[in-house]
Amino acid sequence: MKGNFPIDKFKGVRTPFYYYDSELLRNTLAAIKEEIGKHEHYHLHYAVKANANPKILKIIKEAGFGADCVSGGEIQACLDAGFPADEIVYAGVGKSDWEINLGLDAEIAYFNVESIAELEVINELAAAKGKTARVSFRINPNVGAHTHANITTGLAENKFGIAMEDMERVIQIAAGLEHVAFVGLHFHIGSQILEMEDFSTLCGRINQLQEKLEAQGIEVKNINVGGGLGIDYQHPVDHPIPDFKDYFDTYSQHLNLRPGQHLHFELGRAVVGQCGNLITRVLYVKQATTKQFAILDAGMTDLIRPALYQAYHEIENLSSDEELAVYDVVGPICESSDVFAKGYKLNRCHRGDLIVLRSAGAYGEIMASKYNCRELPVGYVTEDFAS
Ligand SMILES: *Cc1c(COP(=O)(O)O)cnc(C)c1O
Repeated sequence: MKGNFPIDKFKGVRTPFYYYDSELLRNTLAAIKEEIGKHEHYHLHYAVKANANPKILKIIKEAGFGADCVSGGEIQACLDAGFPADEIVYAGVGKSDWEINLGLDAEIAYFNVESIAELEVINELAAAKGKTARVSFRINPNVGAHTHANITTGLAENKFGIAMEDMERVIQIAAGLEHVAFVGLHFHIGSQILEMEDFSTLCGRINQLQEKLEAQGIEVKNINVGGGLGIDYQHPVDHPIPDFKDYFDTYSQHLNLRPGQHLHFELGRAVVGQCGNLITRVLYVKQATTKQFAILDAGMTDLIRPALYQAYHEIENLSSDEELAVYDVVGPICESSDVFAKGYKLNRCHRGDLIVLRSAGAYGEIMASKYNCRELPVGYVTEDFAS
């Protein structure tokens, strides 16, 4: 064991692979349950796009949470994992007909609709089935989040949602359509957000909007505030579970829920981020003119976040206790952006050493690709190494 990893059991296992600490996942779910349980009418729908490994979905389903999907494939994965259809919500700017039909057939809780054009298509498809689709409108609140530009979603310039100004008109259009029922409002301002002020700003916008709608006698049953709570990538060992108390308390302090109104959350990263680790081996140590490279058998095809958003992952050599040396830690893919970290200190590396990249449970395995004709990494949970 080093750093909570059963490294003896990793011998002979083909690298790279994902290793999920299922105890940490269960503890994280228990922490959410404890904090969310303190607030009446609060519900969590796990954002499946962060990680749809069936073993992970099963653990989350067993904890009793719902699911937030952004594609038909995700809806199917959740149904297969046993999530109750009426706990599944579905968002996305480009829902195709078969995806909408799947949602209608399964009778999911509601569609988070992102445009009038989409609303009309849902109405038509529901009519063809003689059904009424429950719809919630995704509003673009024009709230900037303090996070990487590629993962903000709530600004007017982003493609997501319906503008605040258009809201009432859209609700009126929906009222005139026979096969849709308006059940709520949806928001999602971005990801990896660590400043609670961003969420309280969102609450302020929602409060304003609610007053406006109320003045017109429009009733909103559900408010869905999306996800976005970040994790501590710098200190995964000391801070493995996000501060869910602070997060839910922020909403409880700043959002004026009406009696009987339900508040929905769609957390992804905060649920699964810290339990996942990418395990890889050193292929070569290469001494170049000015620097030293540790070349791993994992690359951007296995974990794309560093190449895509300059994301930081803590890296550790599980096989060596030798003195620290400085490396550029890179993968084998034929792209210059296939770099995990530059100038990173690791215990001296040798061919075959096991290396871990931590905090890789969210947007890791699920974003893997076959570029360079590579195999997709396998995802294992703790129980897979139990015997
Ligand atoms: C991605 C996404 C989420 C989850 O975001 P996290 O930052 O992983 O919590 C929630 N809701 C919607 C609509 C999303 O697109």
